[in-house]
Amino acid sequence: MENRILGIHHITAIAGDAKRNFDFYTKVLGLRFIKRTVNFDDPGTYHFYFGDEQGSAGTILTFFPWGNIQKGSKGAGMATEIGYAVPKGSFDFWMKRFETYHVPYDQPAERFGEKYLSFTDPDGLTLELFEAKETDIRKPYETDEVKADVATLGFYNTTLTLNSITATAKILTDIFDYKLVAQEGNRYRYSTDAIAHANVIDLLELPSEKRANNAGGTIHHIAFRVENDEIQMAFREKIAKMGLNITPQIDRNYFHSLYFREPGGVLFEIATDNPGFTVDEPLEELGKSLKLPAQYESQRKQIEAHLVKLD
Ligand code: ZN
Repeated sequence: MENRILGIHHITAIAGDAKRNFDFYTKVLGLRFIKRTVNFDDPGTYHFYFGDEQGSAGTILTFFPWGNIQKGSKGAGMATEIGYAVPKGSFDFWMKRFETYHVPYDQPAERFGEKYLSFTDPDGLTLELFEAKETDIRKPYETDEVKADVATLGFYNTTLTLNSITATAKILTDIFDYKLVAQEGNRYRYSTDAIAHANVIDLLELPSEKRANNAGGTIHHIAFRVENDEIQMAFREKIAKMGLNITPQIDRNYFHSLYFREPGGVLFEIATDNPGFTVDEPLEELGKSLKLPAQYESQRKQIEAHLVKLD
C-alpha cells in the first residue's frame, strides 16, 4: 500500500447514556459491536467501538458515553456530520425503520448530485446515509433486522464546520494529499484517490458561526488512517514542520495514535492499521466481554462494578 493517508480510520463522538447509545447503534443502525473497553484516560467510563464484521478502518464509529454529560452544540471548529454509505434503494427501509424507532429524520435531499437521508441519534448527533457508488464494494455487516441489501457499508464522508476553510483545506491538500473535487455554495468537497472509500471530507464554511461546544451528542475527533507506524511518524514530522503541536505516538491498544488540532479548531488524529481489533480477542468474540488495557487489569473488579450492564 502507498505511503499516504488512506481516508478516515475512525470517528469518535460523545454520548450520554451508555445503554441507550449501545442499543441505538447495534439494534437500530445494525452495526457490529467490535470492542467493549474503557476510556483509557478515564477508566470509570466505557469506550464503545462499532463497525463492520472485521472492525475495518473506515467503518469504525466510537463513543465515550459519559452518562449525565450536558448536551453540546454544533458549531465552528468541529466535525458536525457523519455520512455512511448504504446500498442504492435502501432509503425506504431506513425511513420506515426511523418511524418505528422514533428516530428524527428529514426527507431525502440531494447534494453534489447525490441523494442523502439525514437523521439524528438519541443524543442529537447528526448522521447521514448516502446511496453508495458502484465502486463501493465493501461487505456489509448483517443483523436479524438489518440485512445486507440495506445495511451500512462504512463511512462515506464527514463534514467539518469552519469559520474559514483556508487553513484546514491546506492541511488536507498539502499534507494529506486530498484534492478539491466539488463546490456547492459554501460546501467544499475534498477527496483522496489513495483509497476507494471513506475518502471524502466536506468543509462547510460559515464565517459568523459560533464556536462549537464539545459535549454530549457532538463529535470529539476525526482519525485519519495510515498503514503503519513508519508512515505515521513521517506524517508527524510534516505536521510539526508546519508549526502545529502534535502529540507523541500514543498506544491505544488497537491502533497507535497521534493527535493535533488543525488550525480551524477540529481535533485530528492519525491512526495506524496495526495491531487491529483482534489483538486481545478472536474475530468471533469481538465486543462480547470487557477488554481492559494492561494498566487497568488489576482494577477489573472495581471497574466492572461501576459500569452499567449492556445486554
Ligand atoms: Zn480516536
